Amino acid sequence: MTVEKKVLLAAPRGYCAGVDRAVVTVEKALELYGPPVYVRKQIVHNKHVVSTLEKRGAIFVEETDEVPEGATVVFSAHGVAPVVHEEAKARSLKSIDATCPLVTKVHREAVRFADDAYDILLIGHEGHEEVVGTSGEAPDHITIVDGPDDVDNVQVRDPEKVVWLSQTTLSVDETMATVARLRERFPKLESPPSDDICYATQNRQLAVKAMAPKTDLMIVVGSRNSSNSVRLVEVALEHGARDGHLVDYAEEIDEAWLDGVATVGVTSGASVPEVLVRDVLDWLSERGYDDVEPVIAAEESLLFALPNELRRDLKAAGIAAKTVRHDAATHLH
Ligand code: SF4
Repeated sequence: MTVEKKVLLAAPRGYCAGVDRAVVTVEKALELYGPPVYVRKQIVHNKHVVSTLEKRGAIFVEETDEVPEGATVVFSAHGVAPVVHEEAKARSLKSIDATCPLVTKVHREAVRFADDAYDILLIGHEGHEEVVGTSGEAPDHITIVDGPDDVDNVQVRDPEKVVWLSQTTLSVDETMATVARLRERFPKLESPPSDDICYATQNRQLAVKAMAPKTDLMIVVGSRNSSNSVRLVEVALEHGARDGHLVDYAEEIDEAWLDGVATVGVTSGASVPEVLVRDVLDWLSERGYDDVEPVIAAEESLLFALPNELRRDLKAAGIAAKTVRHDAATHLH
């Protein structure tokens, strides 16, 4: 039996404003100060981005004590706890903070609710860099809640004064399920003043939800340690995709996944350069999947300015300090 082969291509997909800013921050720092520029943790959770920056002279380290005294260090988009800023200062490092402003917003909420003596239930994945950074803002007030099944373990000091916050890259539906379980236990539970799950995570999930019921196979381009990418596979399977896989590169796609498949959905996580999606589309096209239909769930145009400390030095050196939306997948269909 011949099948009518087709690709549904999600929009938006790929780079978000926070990732774009973080990657441009390292690129501009290399241009301005010259290599090496140290980066604490992966600047964004994507293998290809990290190896490309490494080739240009970035050195990725796990902790600030691996950075030579006085050198330049960039903090990743996922954010850091205040103690990391203090360590960098103590080692006389020149630090550039590429924390996504939408993560910084959650940090500020944590500080404010802790100052008001709330118990903060931070919904997120234990050990994820963003969660470690946010918890570090108010360690005595924050309890991590790692999904609905973790709710029964939660202890608070005063059930009348409890608020939930969340990691920015979670599944919207699962987070709401966790909140509902928490509210059964703590009816006075307050919500964050605005969404903590960021616009980019929400929009990529919306596109996947629209495509999933018509999709036999969903291919999500993204790295295993990328929370929002992993969530896209889960969301696809929950919303009707028959099969779904996460791949870093087109070469990782297994031909066997295409057995009996008519419609392939393609999307990418917020830290994924568009070139990797193009490779997947080429790979599919070579196998007869060359009819590509965009599925547009939202338009995105957000841009963040580069970190102040870098902008100041770029200006002094006469180098353009603009964030360029150089990898906008939304414009590529
Ligand atoms: S996924 Fe969201 S929170 Fe994370 S860097 Fe992108 S915009 Fe910022």
